[in-house]
Amino acid sequence: MSEALIIDGKTVAASVHAKSIEQIAEIKEKYGTVPGLAVILVGENPASQVYVGTKVKKCAELGIYSEKIVLPENTTQEELLAVIDRLNKDPRIHGILVQSPPPKQINEEEVVLAIDPAKDVDCFHPFNAGKLFLGDTTGFMPCTPYGVMKLLEYYKIPTKGKHAVVLGRSNIVGKPMAALLSNKGVDATVTVAHSRTENLKELLQTADILVAAIGKPEFVKADMVKPGAVVIDVGINRIPDATAAKGYRIVGDVDFAEVSKVASAITPVPGGVGPMTIAMLMQNAIRGFFNK
Ligand code: NDP
Repeated sequence: MSEALIIDGKTVAASVHAKSIEQIAEIKEKYGTVPGLAVILVGENPASQVYVGTKVKKCAELGIYSEKIVLPENTTQEELLAVIDRLNKDPRIHGILVQSPPPKQINEEEVVLAIDPAKDVDCFHPFNAGKLFLGDTTGFMPCTPYGVMKLLEYYKIPTKGKHAVVLGRSNIVGKPMAALLSNKGVDATVTVAHSRTENLKELLQTADILVAAIGKPEFVKADMVKPGAVVIDVGINRIPDATAAKGYRIVGDVDFAEVSKVASAITPVPGGVGPMTIAMLMQNAIRGFFNK
């Protein structure tokens, strides 16, 4: 089989950003203001610092007003909730996100519930998650699965009647991904696999579309993939590499070198799903502007 089509997340993200720039210009002209996003970072997790920095930088590039709120590692639940309360009431802010994972003393569930659902750009609040599972796509959509859907759409990858296997069942990626793929109009037949799934390899071999989101470096090997399948790799894993400038390199949950020889199309890591997540976050901030 020939080499797979490389699904280029950077190109697709650039097209989404171009649309965002147009939408922001229209909002500015019509309302004399711009959408606003608040990004809260609690503690000093190095990966989180990078993610937050990227989000704020992208806001500046697109013309979205942003607030980066950095709170110390020992921030209490009450202090964090007070910041969220202030942002919920701030008319300049249309989207609020708390970068995950927060330090241990923070109760994430309570934090999610404290964010005004109208500003819940991560789509973690049960109100928005509920809408999503009811097939209502008019509200917020969780950024990463939303980004995967955009990639499939951009590359006109057929989904109707196809068997999609979502590997991973987290509330952030796996479960909403399965919901979106099984929506009317998308019409995939979806199986969700996880760490307790039996005969995983045999199941994965039946996937026309395989979305891997487990956080296990290069877990998916060529012999687990049906020839001609479309493989979407959500994983972002840092693995030590003394030859790399930073001492580590980033790999996905799929062994790209071997799976790209079997799949018909595949996302690279980095440069696949990652850029889409941020592009869809920006879209959600714009959507939040209209949630008044
Ligand atoms: P979680 O750790 O929350 O969930 C992992 C899921 O994978 C769980 O459902 C778990 O099963 C399942 N799993 C773990 N090991 C195996 C295994 N050996 N076989 C089968 N299933 C397994 O991860 P997330 O969903 O938050 O993230 C997944 C990956 O995606 C990570 O690498 C993360 O960094 C990346 N990510 C990337 C984003 C992007 O923008 N590209 C955004 C968000 C995440 P069980 O439920 O049984 O424990």
